[in-house]
Amino acid sequence: MNYIVVDFEWNQSPYGKNTSNKRLPFEIIEIGAVKLDEEGREIDRFDEVIKPKVYKRMHHVTRNLTGITERDLNQGIRFSKALVDFMAWCGEDYMFCTWGNLDLLELQRNMKFYHLDHLLPGPIKYYNVQKLFRILYDDENSAMSLEHAVDYLHIDKKEEFHRAIHDAEYTAIIFAGMDKAEVKRWYTVDYYRNPKTRKEEIKLVYDTYSKYVSKEFDDKEAAIADREVRTTRCYKCGKVALKRIRWFSGKNRAYYCLAECAEHGYIRGKIRLKKTEKDKVYVVKTLRLIDEEGAKCIGDMKEELRQKRLEKRHREGGHEG
Ligand SMILES: [Zn+2]
Repeated sequence: MNYIVVDFEWNQSPYGKNTSNKRLPFEIIEIGAVKLDEEGREIDRFDEVIKPKVYKRMHHVTRNLTGITERDLNQGIRFSKALVDFMAWCGEDYMFCTWGNLDLLELQRNMKFYHLDHLLPGPIKYYNVQKLFRILYDDENSAMSLEHAVDYLHIDKKEEFHRAIHDAEYTAIIFAGMDKAEVKRWYTVDYYRNPKTRKEEIKLVYDTYSKYVSKEFDDKEAAIADREVRTTRCYKCGKVALKRIRWFSGKNRAYYCLAECAEHGYIRGKIRLKKTEKDKVYVVKTLRLIDEEGAKCIGDMKEELRQKRLEKRHREGGHEG
């Protein structure tokens, strides 16, 4: 199996968000990729500038960041052509590696815009090198740039950042230096193409948490009422962990619960509701083993929200809402 370390540059409406095409807010203008073999040795490169169809002028921020000009874009090739070439170049047996989680999202959005989504079936299993860097080097800087990681690892900065092939190259160097046994434990699944049916649901188990991505539901109520969504099975032993605090609607439009596995202790459940483009709903549930203090936090959050609701009701004159 090969690793395809890929990076995209994209442009947006130069005249502001209001003039943006909703189906394609970010248009890919450059693809850069480095193909590595299983041992992390470079085999090949892919580097193309794309001639845009939607935003023909560069947004000033993108121009300053990338140095790509309208003249460069005019010499580029069409997205459809570049994409077909790129997918053929990737081959059959490969896994994507990217810095952060945005590249594959924008790739799929652009592919959908050009009706090319069939070329890359989702959900996509890949390595998010930014996330791996955070975990493996124990660096908690969440908004970490590629350049920060390059500096941290004392990698020679011989190329400018923010050109697709250069960023792909830097990401490839970082990825190649990682312990592959460790890397394999922390793969990521992109669910831009979310599961539609029960059979397609995603269940991932990591060392410190588990993640479940549900099928689609008609609405939020149906999703929250679903048994599979509500269940809190301990991801260490597979046994049902008993609820100590039932699911409640908490901060940032997420739902929380507290469960306890007889063997492994407290488990925090968190459900985030996601809307599809067709107004259906699916959930992402994470279960995480936590300590006594973490368990207390959930109780406190619930109590705090209850108080707020009471005060609100009081202010509104006692009407139930
Ligand atoms: Zn357990």
